[in-house]
Amino acid sequence: MSIITKNRATGYQMPVLLYPASALEPVISQATIECHYGKHLKTYLDNLNRLVQGCDYEDMTLHEIVTSAPEGPLLNNAGQVLNHALYFEQFSPYSPQNNRPHGTLLSAIRFDFGNFETFKSKMEEACAALFGSGWVWLTQDESGKLDIMRCHNGDNPMRYRMKPLFGIDVWEHAYYLDYQNRRTEHVKRIWEIVDWEMVESRMDV
Ligand code: MN
Repeated sequence: MSIITKNRATGYQMPVLLYPASALEPVISQATIECHYGKHLKTYLDNLNRLVQGCDYEDMTLHEIVTSAPEGPLLNNAGQVLNHALYFEQFSPYSPQNNRPHGTLLSAIRFDFGNFETFKSKMEEACAALFGSGWVWLTQDESGKLDIMRCHNGDNPMRYRMKPLFGIDVWEHAYYLDYQNRRTEHVKRIWEIVDWEMVESRMDV
């Protein structure tokens, strides 16, 4: 993953937010983005930079750390930096009408899930069924097949040789300011802000 770069002096860098913090409203509020990106992600990044100093993983890329570090604080924070970099990159300003995948991605969704509506339902069901904190990902395996993967806490599909294409953060910090305990309501509205071209660009085709 090249979306997190590393500076020799200051360590791993915050990914750039590609839209204004208010651009995802009313699906995700400016206050949530400011807290989620500016505080939660920043804290994971600061922890990663502190934990990696002087250890065997110091000169590795984020992808290498996430796929090779043992369970523990370094992996937890590295995983969450990667997860959130993918997460914030995959949205575009609120556009509720006709926001759906096209081309190669839509063909693959139809092939592996039947149709786009079924795929969305399966993602929503997986989000509802995940107990506690975690992520639900649209993944692609090495043969090209798409699937849905539930990950607990900061876990990431790359640890299982799966490519993460699109992820829904179901930690309460992702939706609680806007939806309180209504996780399903939040997830059902996510579709209005997905940048499907970005998602498709992550595929191996
Ligand atoms: Mn989060």
